[in-house]
Amino acid sequence: MHEYDFRIESGGIIVGYLNLADKQVIITDITTPFSEDSRGRNYFKRSEYGHQQEMDRLWHESGQKKTYLGEWHTHNQSIPVPSLVDKRDWKRIDKINKNYKQAFFVIVGLNKLKVWTVSDGLIREMEEV
Ligand SMILES: [Zn+2]
Repeated sequence: MHEYDFRIESGGIIVGYLNLADKQVIITDITTPFSEDSRGRNYFKRSEYGHQQEMDRLWHESGQKKTYLGEWHTHNQSIPVPSLVDKRDWKRIDKINKNYKQAFFVIVGLNKLKVWTVSDGLIREMEEV
């Protein structure tokens, strides 16, 4: 692995286009860790600083088309399993994110990437396509 070796977790936000008519999600950008984030072997806590500025920049730059799609972080696990902290965090984000239809929560494991969504306070794993 180049930039991320999974010794400590990495993370950020996922940015792109949400095409509701075609039920399409196009990821164009992700933010990567800022020094303000709190990172450890088994946790990643994103700071508002940095990621939010980057989101704002992308939003303006794209003529206000690019939007916040969700969050990603890594786990030092072969197949990622969300921690209790992750689940609590996702539900919290889902609550404050009401202006968007659905946020995606990605965990990148060593051998697998998995995606979850929250709807009505329930966490659902998305099926592979
Ligand atoms: Zn996690």
